[in-house]
Amino acid sequence: MREDFLHYIWQHQYYRKTDLATTEGEPLQVLRTGYYNTDAGPDFREAIVKIGDVEWSGSVEIHLRASDWRRHNHQTDQKYDQVVLHVVWDADQTIVRTDGTIIPVLELKNRVDTTLLFTYKQLQEARTTIPCANVWPAVPEITKTMMLGRTLTERLEQKGHEALQTHANYNHDWEATAYHVLFKGFGFKINQQPIERLAQALPATIVRKHRQVFQLEALLFGQAGFLADADGEYVQKLAKEYSFLSHKYSLRDTAMQRHHWNFMRMRPANFPTIRLAQLAAVLAHRQSFFAAIVEAQTIKQYEALFMVPVSEFWQTRFTLTSEPGSVTKAMGKGSAHNLIINVAVPLLAAYSQFTGDRTHLEKAIELLEKVKEASNKITRLYEELGWKANTAADNQAALSLYKNYCQPVNCLQCAIGNKILKQNLLSRS
Ligand code: SF4
Repeated sequence: MREDFLHYIWQHQYYRKTDLATTEGEPLQVLRTGYYNTDAGPDFREAIVKIGDVEWSGSVEIHLRASDWRRHNHQTDQKYDQVVLHVVWDADQTIVRTDGTIIPVLELKNRVDTTLLFTYKQLQEARTTIPCANVWPAVPEITKTMMLGRTLTERLEQKGHEALQTHANYNHDWEATAYHVLFKGFGFKINQQPIERLAQALPATIVRKHRQVFQLEALLFGQAGFLADADGEYVQKLAKEYSFLSHKYSLRDTAMQRHHWNFMRMRPANFPTIRLAQLAAVLAHRQSFFAAIVEAQTIKQYEALFMVPVSEFWQTRFTLTSEPGSVTKAMGKGSAHNLIINVAVPLLAAYSQFTGDRTHLEKAIELLEKVKEASNKITRLYEELGWKANTAADNQAALSLYKNYCQPVNCLQCAIGNKILKQNLLSRS
């Protein structure tokens, strides 16, 4: 058993209360359970209990065994002197405050419904990847929808928080933040590390001074290390421009090398050279990328931010050295949607947190609801149980549910888990 089960039992008061008494035999009444404390100190604050004829206000500390009190050295910690009730599964010892006074104890082991305990153990010890898999179909749809709505919001808060960290690292400059997040997005999965390194090696302040796609390509490909062995007329022109600009901005010391980039096991359309050409086109297209992210309204407008035609050279090539062919490198809708999910949405979520204006968060959610996204390894786990993910919002919600609740078996914090426990659904399956 984990201590969080006892927290759950106490918070919801799911135990038998007839003849409620402390281990000393004094009648006990719980008038207020208190507020769960996430900081240091006792588990529940501002509780009120009546022991005998006396009403006590203070904290409640919860442990599996009473002896855990000494094991955690609470008897020498004044933060725990305000504890008015020690709630334990097993009262194996008498415990005291720093001044030696005895703390009243409530023992729960004979007061918790055996079916609730059985259901809890079944979830904790389940061998299925999703611990409640056996009973998932019996959980009302409304409960699942509510929980997935919550995990979607939590996921966006997390993404927004990460973007806000970047915002702090860039001295609260939103355009520089958007620049970094945009680069990261263009790394997709395979080249995220090198492209983040490139964002560091090519400061936004320099890039902002250049709006011509040719100069932006020179800066990007040059700093990325692709122009070292310049061959061919266009590439030599880029190398010459890069030589001039890198000297002007003293960029050479931070330049990367070609081997930092990954071309393995990927379709040519996803080569980092193509992604850099697309990135140059996007940067050339917008003076203020962050402002455009905040101002866009429709999914088409967001797609248009990313689906910008590349320069003529890149319209027929996959690398700087390949021969021209009849290929076109306009970004596909799938990639644009990936960038909406990983660039536009985190920026909107961060801006919403920063300004306190929820309309940006609501727009981020609307965008995710409009983007169709294929299922992945995680969403398939829920699909096997009968829940189908259709949009990016569904996918993001399922990812968050899996990562933060199902995988660490945090069923007590999950609305679905609460429904299962309350209605004893497992014992009926
Ligand atoms: S966390 Fe929720 S959804 Fe996941 S296994 Fe537990 S009860 Fe089921």
